[in-house]
Amino acid sequence: MTAAAHILVVEDEPKIAALLHDYLVASAYRVTVRETGSGAVEWIRDNAPDAVLLDLMLPGEDGLAICRGVRTFSQVPLLMVTARVEEIDRLLGLELGADDYICKPFSPREVVARVRAVLRRASAAASDAPAPIELDEVRFEVRVQGRALALTPVEFRLLRKLAAQPGRVFSRGQLIDALYEDHRVVSDRTVDSHIKNLRRKLVAMGVDPIASVYGVGYRFEWQAAESEAP
Ligand code: CA
Repeated sequence: MTAAAHILVVEDEPKIAALLHDYLVASAYRVTVRETGSGAVEWIRDNAPDAVLLDLMLPGEDGLAICRGVRTFSQVPLLMVTARVEEIDRLLGLELGADDYICKPFSPREVVARVRAVLRRASAAASDAPAPIELDEVRFEVRVQGRALALTPVEFRLLRKLAAQPGRVFSRGQLIDALYEDHRVVSDRTVDSHIKNLRRKLVAMGVDPIASVYGVGYRFEWQAAESEAP
């Protein structure tokens, strides 16, 4: 990357805004802070930042409206910041198209790591990397770089659901709906154990495309296979 990535922080609490600003600048990003939601959508349209950290509760336009507004014209990576962890399930249900969700209080170091991750995914998507995984709907098989891997029907459905929308975060509840055709009731832990088995099989084939999103759920990302440690 030649120029420093430009990050917009929309945050009305000055202390938090200053903290994010300082950590991001220390990580060699260019940072703009806006303390109100008003005009944020227009600013993003005019300035095309590389990523946006967007607080949910803001004076003026709130984070939901800004996210929706931005998604009408841009796929810029958006990280939604919320004060309540229970809020995240509701946000996921709204299918806003945000790339990640961060709950307050957060560690600034963690936020910087998440920003780096969304930027990496965005540049990988832009470089149009070939899909390393193909799904065979008839045989319940997945092909990893041409080699076949047998999955259980449940694992296959999980992978199909996640891979259909790379980068999108799915809650465990949303994945449960994809697990069983008879809509039986299962617990979140059941999802976790199927994901664990699925990941183990994929890792044995040399790829690891399923990422856990702490406190939220899971997402599929092409880049995870060869990503370096942060
Ligand atoms: Ca706020």
